Amino acid sequence: MKRRDFHQLLQGSAMALALSPWMKDVAATESKLHAWRANPFALGIASGRPRADSIVLWTRLLFSQEDRAVETEALRVDVEVFADANLKRRVQKAEVFTDAYRAHSVHLHVQHLKPSTDYWYRFRQGDAYSPVGHTRTAPALNADVRELRIALSSCQHYEQGQYIAHAEIAKQKLDFVLFMGDYIYESSNPQYAIRKHSGEEPKTLAQYRERYEQYKRDPMLQAAHAAHPWVLMWDDHEVVNDYANDQDRQYTDPQQMLLRRAAAYQAYFEHQPVLLGPDKDNPANMRLYEQLSWGKLADVWTLDCRQYRSAQACRDPVRGGGRMVVQCDELSDSTRTMLGNEQERWITDSLSQSKRQWKLVAQATQISSTSIPAPVGRSYWNDAWDGYPEARKRLLQTVVDAKLSNVVTLGGDVHCNVAANLRLEPNNPQSPIVASEFVTTSITSRGLGDKPAALIRESNSDLLHYRSDERGYGLITVTSKEARCDFRATKFPAGSEAGLKTQASYVVKSGKPGPQAV
Ligand code: FE
Ligand code: CA
Repeated sequence: MKRRDFHQLLQGSAMALALSPWMKDVAATESKLHAWRANPFALGIASGRPRADSIVLWTRLLFSQEDRAVETEALRVDVEVFADANLKRRVQKAEVFTDAYRAHSVHLHVQHLKPSTDYWYRFRQGDAYSPVGHTRTAPALNADVRELRIALSSCQHYEQGQYIAHAEIAKQKLDFVLFMGDYIYESSNPQYAIRKHSGEEPKTLAQYRERYEQYKRDPMLQAAHAAHPWVLMWDDHEVVNDYANDQDRQYTDPQQMLLRRAAAYQAYFEHQPVLLGPDKDNPANMRLYEQLSWGKLADVWTLDCRQYRSAQACRDPVRGGGRMVVQCDELSDSTRTMLGNEQERWITDSLSQSKRQWKLVAQATQISSTSIPAPVGRSYWNDAWDGYPEARKRLLQTVVDAKLSNVVTLGGDVHCNVAANLRLEPNNPQSPIVASEFVTTSITSRGLGDKPAALIRESNSDLLHYRSDERGYGLITVTSKEARCDFRATKFPAGSEAGLKTQASYVVKSGKPGPQAV
């Protein structure tokens, strides 16, 4: 480790400790109404976690040089919620105090809202107003819902493209954006950069905050947040590439790795419309996995595939993390876990008990196999579910044991559009199809080359669609008849003029597992 890196880590850990009571209420009795030189809402606004009666609203104040004087103060932010786009009918008003301990982030859990209802919201501090955001609550638990529309998205490396997919998402009619991870990237690959990260690879809280600031300034990303509520899950790059629980690729001391992870999780929370979960004082162990219901039509689960997982199987002793592995006995070790025991018990119970027509299991990576032939046996990518085959079998066995129909898994991470059959034994036509999978390509992050993608496609009969050459998102439409995925994509995520087209469309018919091409 370089001396400078070590100092950064020390700084980060001191900061993490100093921040432990940070969720306690801000001790503010009065607050100045500041006359702002520059609008402090430069990072935009967001809403998320839609429920039938509640929503989470988010913003974060940013200070220009001229406004730095108030940065040390606790500031009051007023939040208004309206029933109309013209902001004539205000239905709620709240005050939130924030301060530097939480990077002047603002989270408001708005409650007592009506189901299936559009709302508009804005923030104010002093003489500055935020942009107006639109959001919408979930349907009542027993409501008959005609349609659920989701933009499935992931992987938005800032350096590798413009967020034109978000510009289109902002214009879509949607119930929510389902973002499955790699919201920021800690790493750079200058070879493919069309714009540059500022700062070096984040390791401390301050550095992660700076990285989010850069991403959140993007106007097209802001537009997608302002237009719809988001349901969020993280993957690896929100912390560091290919991390697994307390392990990183460099085999950093787990205690140090956990400090870095805590800084990254805290910065994540400070920039997203999410709640901290049960352990409210401790963003270091933030629980992000959740279940939400969409009337009688669907249950949706978001699974955390990073925080609790076993380290990748058969890691390279010098450079850990993801790689292709052959003849790896560790793969068949049934004690290895993708979700951790607690989350696995939770999804097993919750999925088994689900009574809603569609069961949408959103998780951050790919469940179907992408293995390829090797001189001896097959070669597996050990960072996705192929590297956790026993955990995958347990998840799919739950579907079989509970006799569940209409289970559709939704994923990201692999920078490919995927439609796949899911069987207890991957690619074995004798093993029945028990569920269906859609994985979205990346918003911007580079995909696989054509040759490896073709080899993977040819080597796995369960992959009905597998393309890595285009960037975009998946438009998911669920009705009582079918669950449909339109892969919206472009070859040119660099030019803001480039439009998206539908690369392919697949449907899962109710009662019949397995996607079919449309
Ligand atoms: Fe990614
Ligand atoms: Ca990833």
